[in-house]
Amino acid sequence: MALPDPHSHRDDTQPTVEHLSWDVRADFDSRVLDAVAELRLAGARPGPLDLDTRDLEITSVTAGDAELAWELGAPDPVMGSRLRIELPEGAGTVRIAYRTSPGSTALQWCLPEQTADGTHPFLYSQCQTIHARSMVPIQDTPAVRFSYEATLRVPAELTALMSATTTSVSTSGDEGVYGFRQDQTMPSYLLALAVGRLDGKEIGPRSIVWAEPSVLEAAAWEFAEVEEMVTTAEDILGPYAWGRVDLLVLPPSYPYGGMENPQLIFLTPTLITGDRSLVALLAHEIAHAWTGNLVTAASLDHFWVNEGFTIYAEREITSRMVGRDLTELQAAVGRSDLEKDLHYLADRPELTCLRLRLNGVDPDVASSYVALEKGYLFLRAIAESVGADRFRRFLRDYLDTFRFRALTGEDVVAYARAELSEAVDYDEWLFGTGLPDDAPTIVSPLLDAVRAVGQTVPDEETAGRWSADEWQAYLAGLRAPLPAELMEELDARFGLTTSANQEILRLWLLVALRSGYRPAVPATIDLLGRVGRLKFLKPLYDALADDPETRELAEECFARNGGRYHPIATTVITARLAKAAQAAQGEQSA
Ligand SMILES: [Zn+2]
Repeated sequence: MALPDPHSHRDDTQPTVEHLSWDVRADFDSRVLDAVAELRLAGARPGPLDLDTRDLEITSVTAGDAELAWELGAPDPVMGSRLRIELPEGAGTVRIAYRTSPGSTALQWCLPEQTADGTHPFLYSQCQTIHARSMVPIQDTPAVRFSYEATLRVPAELTALMSATTTSVSTSGDEGVYGFRQDQTMPSYLLALAVGRLDGKEIGPRSIVWAEPSVLEAAAWEFAEVEEMVTTAEDILGPYAWGRVDLLVLPPSYPYGGMENPQLIFLTPTLITGDRSLVALLAHEIAHAWTGNLVTAASLDHFWVNEGFTIYAEREITSRMVGRDLTELQAAVGRSDLEKDLHYLADRPELTCLRLRLNGVDPDVASSYVALEKGYLFLRAIAESVGADRFRRFLRDYLDTFRFRALTGEDVVAYARAELSEAVDYDEWLFGTGLPDDAPTIVSPLLDAVRAVGQTVPDEETAGRWSADEWQAYLAGLRAPLPAELMEELDARFGLTTSANQEILRLWLLVALRSGYRPAVPATIDLLGRVGRLKFLKPLYDALADDPETRELAEECFARNGGRYHPIATTVITARLAKAAQAAQGEQSA
C-alpha cells in the first residue's frame, strides 16, 4: 500500500520524517507564522518526497546549498495540497521556508477581547485532526512519528509554550525567543503551541498550570488533583513516558474539552466550576499520554483506538478516585450522548461503525461520540467477558507491546483474539453499525435513584444532595418535549438557566429548547457568544436550528459569532446548519 492514510499524501514507499527543526516567527499583525521547517529523513534516497500542506506559501526548498525542485498540487478541500519535493542523491535533510495563511485551520489568532482578560492577543494551535499541515509541511498522518526542536519568536510581552520542554528563554529587541525540545517521537497532530499573556503556578511535582492571570488561581484550585491522577494512571497503565505534565487553560473559544498535547495538556475554561466536578476530563487527557500518544491510531479511520481506550482508562482512573458509582453515572451519561449521536447519524449509518472509511470525508465533520463511547463499550464488553483483572493485564501488555507504534482497529482485534480468544463478537463490534444488541448495560444505584425521579421535578432535599454528575444524569434522562409548567418549576426551584456548571447548563438548555421553554433561548444565545467548545456548539445550534421559531436566530447567532470560534468549529457548525436548513426545506416541500 502506498497511501495508507485516507487523509494524508504520505507515501509509505518514500523516506519518513524522523525529526523536525522548526524556526518560527509569530506575526500577530498579519496573523501568519513566518517559518523554516527542516525535516530530517529516515531512509533518505533520491526520488519524490510527498508532504501534506494546506494554504502554505512556500518560498524555497533546499538541501544544503542546493535548491530543490518542488511542486505544490491543486488544493483539495479536505486534504489540502500535496507538496512534492524531488530529493537528490545524499539529501538526508530538507529545509522548507514558508508562511502560513491567516486562515490556517490549525491556528486561532484571538483578539484581546476574545481572551479571558481582554488585554493581550492570544495564539494557539489545534492540530488534531488534520491541521498540522496548515502550520508546517509534514507527513500529516499519525502513522509517522518524529521528535522535534523549535525556536519560537513572539512579542516580548507574551509567553510561548509548546508540547515540549522549554530549553531557553531570551529577548532580542522587542521579541521573546523561546527554545523547545521534544525528544520522544510523536505524531504530527500532537505538535502544539500557545502564545499569550500567561502566568504559571506549580500544582504538583511535575505540573505547572498555565492560564491568563485572571483565571490562574481558580485553575490551580480546580486542577490541584493532577498528581494524584497521574500516579493513579501510572498504577493502571505503567510509567508515565513524557516527563512533565503541565496544563494550559485556553481562552473560551477553544473548540474542545481538552487536547492531550505531550507535556502540555490543553484544557477548556468551561471545566472551571469551583467544585472540581468536571475534572474527569483531565483524567481523560492524562490517560491519552498512554492511549493515543504512546499507542496511536494509524489514521482517523481507526480513531476509536485512541478514544475508546482512553475513555476506558479514564473511567478506571476516576473509579479509583471518586468511586465506582459516580463513574458508572458518567458512563451512563456517555451512553446517552452516544445514543443521541447514533440518532443524529441515522442517515449516515457508516459513520456509526468503529471502523470508518473516511476517504474524501472531513474527519472533523464526521467526528462523534461513536469513537469514544462505542469504543468504550466495546472494551467494556471484552472486560465483562474475560473478567476485570484479566482485562487489566491485557491492557498493560497491549500498551507495553505497542508503545511508540500506530495501530489499526484490525491490529487491535488481532491482538485481542490472540490474547483473549473470541471474548466477544469482534467483527460485529468493529464493522457493524449502531450498537450490538448485547452491548453492556450500565447500572448503578445512583443512576437508579435519579431515574426514579424520571420525568418529574425532584424535591429539594433529594436534589440538594445530588452531585454534578447526578444532575447531568437527571437532565440527560429528561425526554423533551416536556410541559411548560414542569420546565418553569424546575427552573424556579433550581435556577438551572443560570447554572455556573456549564455541563449542567448545556444539558438543561438542550431539554429546555426542545421543550419550547422560551427563557432558554436568550441564555443559549448568550452561552454561544461566550464559549467555542464544540460539545456545546453542536447540540445547541442543532436545537435552535431544528425549531422553525428559532432557526433564524441560530443563523444570526452564528453570523455574529462564527468569526470568533476556532476555524475547526466554524467548519463543523457551517455543515450542521446547512444540514438543518436542508431538512427544513425537505419538510416544506414534502
Ligand atoms: Zn480523547
